[in-house]
Amino acid sequence: MAKPGNKIIQAKLVLLGDMGTGKTSLVLRFVKGQFFDHQEPTIGAAFFTQILSLAEATVKFDIWDTAGQERYHSLAPMYYRGAAAAVVVYDISSTDTFTRAKKWVQELQRQGNQNLVMALVANKSDLDAKREIETEEGEQFSQENGMFFIETSAKTAQNINELFFEIAKRLARAI
Ligand code: GDP
Ligand code: MG
Repeated sequence: MAKPGNKIIQAKLVLLGDMGTGKTSLVLRFVKGQFFDHQEPTIGAAFFTQILSLAEATVKFDIWDTAGQERYHSLAPMYYRGAAAAVVVYDISSTDTFTRAKKWVQELQRQGNQNLVMALVANKSDLDAKREIETEEGEQFSQENGMFFIETSAKTAQNINELFFEIAKRLARAI
């Protein structure tokens, strides 16, 4: 519930990253508190809403998940249009997905939105035994690109709320 006088921010959030990195799983964990071991690659509805209340503002997220178009390594411009926040996801157990995440970041930067809040998410932190990308690599790339960085697991729920709260805080600050 919004407190009286509390600002309400409506923010479009887009998810980017290779197929299989866990984008849909992150959203479903955040929005529904659920995780599926066999998440369907393409689920019909790729749009979700969720509200987060902070002391300083209430943030209504309109979350755009891909419906599998990332398979072709490009997304239509309308996917990003008007986005206030972008979450770029890779899988810590796959170097290829980290390489692709860097490309997605470049593509986002080409959109030229200086105010975009950007997060780099190292997902599947529960797969530490199969880790191919060290935490420091993600951190360093994020710093170089003005993003914030977090390691998550949609499976164990580690840092999922932290991810979205941090985005909400940055959106509230930017307004
Ligand atoms: P998307 O293609 O990026 O939307 O990825 P999905 O959300 O469909 O996830 C792809 C696969 O990875 C599914 O089998 C998920 O169950 C699995 N997955 C997603 N997140 C995690 C995670 O944090 N840890 C583990 N171990 N598996 C995950
Ligand atoms: Mg998906």
